[in-house]
Amino acid sequence: MAEGSTDALLARCRAIVGAGHVITDDADMAPFMADWRGRYSGRGLAVVLPLDTAQVAAIVAACAAARVPVVPQGGRTGLVMGSVPDLSGSAIVLSLRRLNRIRAIDPANRTMTVEAGCILADIQAAAEGAGMLYPLSLAAEGSCTIGGNLSTNAGGTAVLRYGNTRELCLGLEVVNPQGEVWEGLRGLRKDNTGYALRELFIGAEGTLGVITAAVLKLYPAPRAALTALVALESPRHALELLGLLQTRCGAALTGFELMSAFCLDLVAAQFPALPRPFADRHPQYALIELSSTESDQHAHSLLESSIGEALGAGVARDAVLATSQQQALGLWRLREHIPLAQAAAGKNIKHDISLPVSEIPDFILAADAALEQAFPGCQPVTFGHLGDGNLHYNVAPPVGVEHDAFLTHQAAVNRIVHDLVHACGGSISAEHGIGVLKREELARYKSPVELGMMRAIKAALDPLGIMNPGKIL
Ligand SMILES: Cc1cc2nc3c(=O)[nH]c(=O)nc-3n(C[C@H](O)[C@H](O)[C@H](O)COP(=O)(O)OP(=O)(O)OC[C@H]3O[C@@H](n4cnc5c(N)ncnc54)[C@H](O)[C@@H]3O)c2cc1C
Repeated sequence: MAEGSTDALLARCRAIVGAGHVITDDADMAPFMADWRGRYSGRGLAVVLPLDTAQVAAIVAACAAARVPVVPQGGRTGLVMGSVPDLSGSAIVLSLRRLNRIRAIDPANRTMTVEAGCILADIQAAAEGAGMLYPLSLAAEGSCTIGGNLSTNAGGTAVLRYGNTRELCLGLEVVNPQGEVWEGLRGLRKDNTGYALRELFIGAEGTLGVITAAVLKLYPAPRAALTALVALESPRHALELLGLLQTRCGAALTGFELMSAFCLDLVAAQFPALPRPFADRHPQYALIELSSTESDQHAHSLLESSIGEALGAGVARDAVLATSQQQALGLWRLREHIPLAQAAAGKNIKHDISLPVSEIPDFILAADAALEQAFPGCQPVTFGHLGDGNLHYNVAPPVGVEHDAFLTHQAAVNRIVHDLVHACGGSISAEHGIGVLKREELARYKSPVELGMMRAIKAALDPLGIMNPGKIL
């Protein structure tokens, strides 16, 4: 873009949002340019922070007129480099963090209307304040925004019971790539009036438009939520335990997380103050959450009898049932600290995959064996939302091998893992999306027909290609 037109665009942005909300200084822009893992830093023309939907629309319209790319950004906790610009320095980063109002809560309709920049934890707190539950929950909830959650269709720890972010949203307000506002903020559970546009924007990673607000579903707050950690022999036993609990507890089972012994070893090494629930080391652990809208007693007797049955049948080796809220938090902290412990221990090769739940034990055996053969001594860090068929199958270097040196094998490790995932009927991205990091992998595993339809949608909604270019496709 010519210098004069750049100046004109920036002047227009300042006129729309106020000069204090257009950042052009390199040092001030730096925090908006780096990905969460700190592996990559892009370059932008400016960071613009609008206050409301009208300002977002005006900024996008100005960028469209100037043919300048727009990179929507929420809390920047995404793990695939979706919310940072490329190195060209030609894009405007559009931070939604000032659109952070809770517009309305409708208790009778069980809905809440929020702006895209609301932090997830604030939404959870507002729902709780109204005596209800917004069930989306993930370790980044203190920083990630609902706009980012919707745009990545985030999962988290309660998908088993409540579904992904997609299932938790009824309506959207979106600024399209032409700078027009689509008023789709409907609080309807039934609406068969043609194409489901909402579904297009959810999971689109900011490539089709900017989400500015959403109508979210609320649920009755459970009267009791119980947590247990169960020690297991193998992933196969974890699968059996999951089946047993689903049969016995039905919708009361709200979380089922698998963690290998190596994951908890990492957490213990990096965060020694966290609890160590078992005296012995076991090969696998399942973190279970049971919720009840009836009573604490109901949840207790259901969980105790189910785990008792699992222990009696040899499905489980040992179990710890949290007897206080604090103990429950302590057990969840173990799970939540796995990504942090990995980050503290050094770089590793990450995979966020999903599989039919029934395939998971065989997949883990096959992937562990194939990687051991190719990279003897490498250390799989396997954990995830087993109840949803979602594994974080990460690979740390063999002891003594330098982390950066091991990362040079990333493509070969990805190939082994993703080929196996594909062969098992799985997906190479369960939660985190495609962004830039998995773009080539997506092109490898999606069929030409599917890719063609995706490109057609992108071209129809964003013919100038200004909306988060280079992401997904
Ligand atoms: C410690 C940790 C734990 C995590 N755990 C989970 C987990 O359990 N489950 C899970 O699914 N993810 C998890 N994540 C990933 C991340 O938190 C989610 O992807 C989250 O939804 C991103 O939200 P964000 O606001 O940070 O979005 P960003 O990172 O800012 O953006 C993500 C993508 O959405 C686009 N975007 C952002 N806002 C908008 C908007 N308003 N309109 C249009 N596009 C937009 C961006 O362009 C980008 O492509 C975790 C991340 C961390 C760091």
